[in-house]
Amino acid sequence: MRLQADTRPLWVSGQELHTSRRVYGWIDDIARKHKLQVSEIGKSTGGRPLKLLTLGNKSGKKAILVISRQHPPEVTGYFAMQSFVATLAADTRLAQRFRKDWTVYVVPLMNPDGVDGGFWRHNVGGVDLNRDWADFNQPETRAVRDFLKQRAADGARFYFGIDFHSTWDDIYYTLDPKFKGNMPGLVPEWLDKIQQAIPHYKPVIQPSERLEPTTVSRNYFLKEHGMEAIVFEIGDNTPRDLITEKGKVGATELMKLILAKSAP
Ligand SMILES: [Zn+2]
Repeated sequence: MRLQADTRPLWVSGQELHTSRRVYGWIDDIARKHKLQVSEIGKSTGGRPLKLLTLGNKSGKKAILVISRQHPPEVTGYFAMQSFVATLAADTRLAQRFRKDWTVYVVPLMNPDGVDGGFWRHNVGGVDLNRDWADFNQPETRAVRDFLKQRAADGARFYFGIDFHSTWDDIYYTLDPKFKGNMPGLVPEWLDKIQQAIPHYKPVIQPSERLEPTTVSRNYFLKEHGMEAIVFEIGDNTPRDLITEKGKVGATELMKLILAKSAP
């Protein structure tokens, strides 16, 4: 690669550039379109807001959690999250039924300073946020921890937690089914349904045998709140239309399964 440098800054981006401004814009757009609540659960070290989107029944006691962009450049995971959340917010009969009883909390941008600074994995504090879910040394992870604690104290129960990332390939990092949360079996059954719904698709699933120390978000979500939790990794070069499809199918199958498993 040859670059012409002069006195003006030259920005080089390996993937589509989705800075904090653009992500906040997406949050506002989807909130306006579907009349969703946007709030702030804290601020990053650099003073940028950590925004929370709330979908569904605000006084409900059954909840799921969605987070993304702990790692700044992982935009393909972010694209899957956008499609996933748009499907949960849609005016389909399934999504309306789901939102009647369930609350979906979304933190689309966990590391706004890192995103705007073009950092690889860290935040402004020089810490990989997805290694901070045991010590909570950083304001970004603490904000989510405190929010979850507050909701749990208010009587909410979390059943599912998903953290969107990107890597070389599409991979699901799950937890070994021996670790049981509030809806045992949800994650493996869900991944089966996704596989059935996308023709010729064979997902790579890598369960972790270790829960403690919690360190990563997925383990904290299960250990502390009983969420059936997963790290949803999308390949850097996965075709963008397949990413959208996976997000949509993922949300659709999840809603169906949760409704079936929670039926009285
Ligand atoms: Zn990552």
